[in-house]
Amino acid sequence: MVYRRRNGPRDPILGLNEQFNADPNPAKVNLGVGVYFDDNGKLPLLACVRAAEHAMMEAPTARGYLPIDGIAAYDAAVKGLVFGADSEPVKSGRVATVQAIGGTGGLKVGADFLKHLNPNAKVLISDPSWENHRALFTNAGFLVETYPYYDAAKRGVNFEGMLAALNAAAAGTIVVLHACCHNPTGYDITAAQWDQVVAAVKARGLTAFLDMAYQGFGHGIREDGAAIGKFVAAGLSFFVSTSFSKSFSLYGERVGALSVLCENKEEADRVLSQLKIVIRTNYSNPPIHGGAVVAAVLGNPELRALWEKELGEMRVRIKQMRNLLVEKLKAAGVKQDMSFITSQIGMFSYSGLSKDQMVRLRNEFGVYGTDTGRMCVAALNSKNIDYVCASIAKV
Ligand code: PLP
Repeated sequence: MVYRRRNGPRDPILGLNEQFNADPNPAKVNLGVGVYFDDNGKLPLLACVRAAEHAMMEAPTARGYLPIDGIAAYDAAVKGLVFGADSEPVKSGRVATVQAIGGTGGLKVGADFLKHLNPNAKVLISDPSWENHRALFTNAGFLVETYPYYDAAKRGVNFEGMLAALNAAAAGTIVVLHACCHNPTGYDITAAQWDQVVAAVKARGLTAFLDMAYQGFGHGIREDGAAIGKFVAAGLSFFVSTSFSKSFSLYGERVGALSVLCENKEEADRVLSQLKIVIRTNYSNPPIHGGAVVAAVLGNPELRALWEKELGEMRVRIKQMRNLLVEKLKAAGVKQDMSFITSQIGMFSYSGLSKDQMVRLRNEFGVYGTDTGRMCVAALNSKNIDYVCASIAKV
């Protein structure tokens, strides 16, 4: 084969990581990543995961193929987390859930299925959104446009703009919504605003696709899933992708899922059969290990309680870093009011710093964030926060 097209663009975040790794500055800090680190700057291995893996090692099993839709206990656990184990949608059997290769895999299986279902639909993503949303839906064959989201002047969400865009969208348009902990801005809409979004989706006949990559990182597991309950209550059918990469610190195991809420069990069975075709023709069936770990933890009351405790500790540590950041920036001499950082939620902060300031932070101080001003608050710790604040004060 002769391939003459030019190189594809580098992933901006991974490119930043390469630059960080090559930087000889001993004080360097990587806030460009989308990963939670503990107070020692280490990627945690959760005790609940270790315990589940220990039990699995004690009783090793042969590795046959999984069913196309994954481990049944895993899919059931996902349904429980997303909709509530005793909820009407789960009890009536009208949720079709498949294990997927990370949250990305859940989005991609959903995108491919939607392309068959409604090939001419447009996809709307937030402006800005997680980098991969546009590429993923574009490569699935959709025309991708944006709805307004971030209002830099207001340091918050341009909700009027967002709602107006939804109300102007054609029937069948697929709207990708961050269920909680918006990446990259850190700004979520309020419960009352979700009500208005749900009403617009219903009135305009749009298809909601909720991306839930940070359940438990915002206010709590149930609280972060509240938007899902609103869509259910409105009687809508919709899509939810789940990622356990962050909430279980299982990034490399690629554990995620796609759930589709249908009108009834018969429709859910038909949808499941179609999702299985998408999976079968892509990668046949998912890998075992990560799904087995998550299913073991969620299915065991003690391990589940341990997971909830560990997830709560990650959530609280991020909040502490937000508070410290605001305090220490002030102490370092930053005149601007930075208290908006504590009104953001999840792993990220849109810091409001310009591209020039972000480049100076990187080149002069070895503090790495994206050019958009996004910083990963979950990569701050008690050892690096003073240096980061002093560096920000200097730019
Ligand atoms: N969706 C959003 C909003 C994300 O931020 C991420 C990961 O950063 C994902 C999906 C993908 O998650 P995973 O790594 O499980 O594929």
